[in-house]
Amino acid sequence: MDFDDTPAEAAFRAGVRAWLEAHAEPKRHARDFVGDGLPPDERLAAARAWQARKAAAGYAAVTWPRELGGLGGTAVQQLIVRQEESRFRSSFGIFEIGLGMCLPTLMAYGSEAHKARRIRPGLYGEEIWCQMFSEPAAGSDVAGVLTRARPNGHHWVINGQKVWTTGAQFSDFGLLLARTDPTVPKHAGLTMFFVDMKSPGIEVRPIRQMDGDSEFNEVFFTDVRVPDDQRLGAVGAGWKVALTTLMHERLSVGAEIGLLNFDALWAVVKAAGRLDEPLAGEHLADAWVAEEGLRLHHCRSLTALSRGGTPGPEQSIAKLVKATLAQRMATFALQLRGEVGQVGDADPTSDAYVVERTWTRAAAMRIAGGTDEILRNIIAERVLGLPEEARLDKGVPFNEVPR
Ligand SMILES: Cc1cc2nc3c(=O)[nH]c(=O)nc-3n(C[C@H](O)[C@H](O)[C@H](O)COP(=O)(O)OP(=O)(O)OC[C@H]3O[C@@H](n4cnc5c(N)ncnc54)[C@H](O)[C@@H]3O)c2cc1C
Repeated sequence: MDFDDTPAEAAFRAGVRAWLEAHAEPKRHARDFVGDGLPPDERLAAARAWQARKAAAGYAAVTWPRELGGLGGTAVQQLIVRQEESRFRSSFGIFEIGLGMCLPTLMAYGSEAHKARRIRPGLYGEEIWCQMFSEPAAGSDVAGVLTRARPNGHHWVINGQKVWTTGAQFSDFGLLLARTDPTVPKHAGLTMFFVDMKSPGIEVRPIRQMDGDSEFNEVFFTDVRVPDDQRLGAVGAGWKVALTTLMHERLSVGAEIGLLNFDALWAVVKAAGRLDEPLAGEHLADAWVAEEGLRLHHCRSLTALSRGGTPGPEQSIAKLVKATLAQRMATFALQLRGEVGQVGDADPTSDAYVVERTWTRAAAMRIAGGTDEILRNIIAERVLGLPEEARLDKGVPFNEVPR
């Protein structure tokens, strides 16, 4: 394991830090983004402005080739930018799905004409993308999607429903996984498209969350026409394309999600005058040990990346630990604050605000990008080499699977 930057990485980090210090404001707390507190339109405009500034400096997509607006850099450099940026007020994550998943998929499977039109606006925050994989009956088992795409001349006609679609209400384009052939086993009958979210027949319905936000949506498709040249990959090869998208999702796992950390928990316990309590000590010790474990795990991934590897299924460990830890810490901190903890803290610069936001969001983090149980299955099967769970629909035509 190599914990330190190489001299070249240290120089790169110094350059990133100097640029951030000159162009961004330091974060006041873990969940402090540009435009916070402004009405939604202005908040989005502030996020776009930050994205454009970052893109112009080459820091928006470090690993992309220079001709596509990146720096042609390494995955380690990308992580360095992410680590350094996490100490500053940046955008609230609205571009991550586009830059982290959809545009890399377009780069791998899109036509040259589409790449030329879509990549730069995505990079500069002018166009927003969403990922439309999950459906009411297909989440963990995403290969079970029911949304249907039927050919019609040079177009496809889409009918069905997606759910959980983060950012769809702001999106200009979306990746769509649809079923084109239900008579073959589930993975073989899928095709990937990208769609213009303003197409007639698309209805986006935001879902209101318990914290008041609406980050994700239901998306309904009624006879939506998608040109065949917006198909990504061959007809029936959608699963392979989806794996490209999901591999990029795994690469974004280390992203800063602004959850409660040890320092904030310490501050809350101290402010409540409860540092001497055995239970507080136990929670603080657990948090410290888990965070240190995550840091070392992260160092191991960085070492693998710097040797040319890619993060493997063991990345599932980081999300599993991070999300469950955050939920446990937030629950304890909320209880510590007694009745006040339930009322809600109006001051968005306080640690108590981070506690509340973490508590209302942590459950979602345990689901998004793979539920705890699915991550445990991945760890069991692909890290520990334990026997595979039974898959009863293996090899069975999709339309013959009981549901
Ligand atoms: C904040 C957030 C943002 C999201 N954004 C997007 C997005 O932008 N685009 C998108 O396409 N999707 C998105 N999702 C959807 C996400 O990918 C799914 O919610 C997730 O994959 C789980 O699917 P599900 O909700 O259908 O639950 P289900 O798959 O129905 O699971 C229900 C329960 O059964 C358990 N379970 C299921 N299968 C197994 C198994 N084989 N073994 C053991 N237990 C099992 C699960 O762990 C869970 O507890 C988002 C979700 C969240 C929470």
